[in-house]
Amino acid sequence: MNKNYLSIIGLQWGDEGKGKLTDLFSSKACAVVRYQGGNNAGHTIIVDGVKTVLHLIPSGILHPHTLNIISHGVVFDPRAFWQEYERVSLHHEVTPKNLAISLSAPVITSYHRLLDAAREGSSSSESKIGTTGKGIGPTYEDKKILHEKLEKIFGEKKVLFDSLYKIEYPSLEQETEDLFLLGQKIAPFLKDTFTLVDELRQKEENKILFEGAQGVLLDVDYGTYPFVTSSNTAVGGLYTGCMPMGDHEVLGIVKAYTTRVGSGPFPTEYFDERGSYLQQKGGEIGATTGRIRRCGSIDFPLLRYGVKCSRITSLAVTKLDILEGLDEFDVCYAYEYEGKTIETAFPGIDFSKAKPLYKKVKGFQKVSMDDENFVNYLNLFEEMTQTPVAVYTYGPQRDEIVFKKSIFGH
Ligand code: GDP
Repeated sequence: MNKNYLSIIGLQWGDEGKGKLTDLFSSKACAVVRYQGGNNAGHTIIVDGVKTVLHLIPSGILHPHTLNIISHGVVFDPRAFWQEYERVSLHHEVTPKNLAISLSAPVITSYHRLLDAAREGSSSSESKIGTTGKGIGPTYEDKKILHEKLEKIFGEKKVLFDSLYKIEYPSLEQETEDLFLLGQKIAPFLKDTFTLVDELRQKEENKILFEGAQGVLLDVDYGTYPFVTSSNTAVGGLYTGCMPMGDHEVLGIVKAYTTRVGSGPFPTEYFDERGSYLQQKGGEIGATTGRIRRCGSIDFPLLRYGVKCSRITSLAVTKLDILEGLDEFDVCYAYEYEGKTIETAFPGIDFSKAKPLYKKVKGFQKVSMDDENFVNYLNLFEEMTQTPVAVYTYGPQRDEIVFKKSIFGH
């Protein structure tokens, strides 16, 4: 296995705490690559009490020596990028020396954004997917070079805007002008990032970090369809959105409990005060959307599935501090499904027929190896998934982390 390449993959529905881990590992990396999704993702990194929220720019930007790459699998909103650039560059250096954007990343135009919002707005509440309305889905559909396609994109969307959704939109001239001006500002960052990553691979000692966004259960193919995002969030997205990296370390990030933002099935969801307890103590509010996250207990059938979808080699368990002080809590170890007990979810499973089977575990007072109940809970992740826990975290700060196993130079 090549231990110099590390992918970070969310194992639930996103918001597992990938940002902090990506930030930590990027201190060891010569390059950090975003390869899927767009500015619908949101990482929060807190260093010395200063909070940085990143949507599009890779987390390596907080380390001056790290090259940050946005590869061709990312859908790129130049307006959102420029706003983020202006905000982040107040505190950190962001120049063409430490940030490269793929020449062939598909561009999100106003038309994609408007169409996304109009589609979502016109859906009944049950069929709303819960998209962030940022135009990500419609842009993946129109993956072509902007200047050749803008007129064609506009022609089709214009009919939908005028006749179906009846919404206002910028003229073709206005949109062309806006994107042209932005393009001039962004041009110095544009590179052939495929070759850039390939060149980095030529030196064996180079460590490269691949920063996945969202989580496996939102993957367009492996996720809980139709309540999914429009890209491959499982490790397959790395192969299509950047390049195949062979057998390498894949760190799956899992929160100590489960959360989900937006609609869609959630077998272990709490509908009582246990849900609001986790929501409040865990600060479960979306960084990108400001939406409150639904909360529930850990779901091992889904976790085992996530581990298999992304060939996870190690786990990082996060937000364990949120469970501190509880006397006991439930864990879902299997589902009862069509008369059988199943231990692992699978694509197309009908969650309305999956009954979670719970067992109670004793709570822990402290995230500490001296607390036997804590050790037992952590071990449960390894037993249930047959995957070692390499890291666990117990707070948002950079240093609130324990490495159980050496990984990527840590
Ligand atoms: P991502 O979508 O997976 O990148 O999630 P974020 O990195 O945005 O993390 C979600 C939130 O959890 C952020 O506010 C983090 O500061 C916070 N966080 C991360 N790890 C921990 C932890 O171990 N404990 C606590 N209490 N908060 C954490």
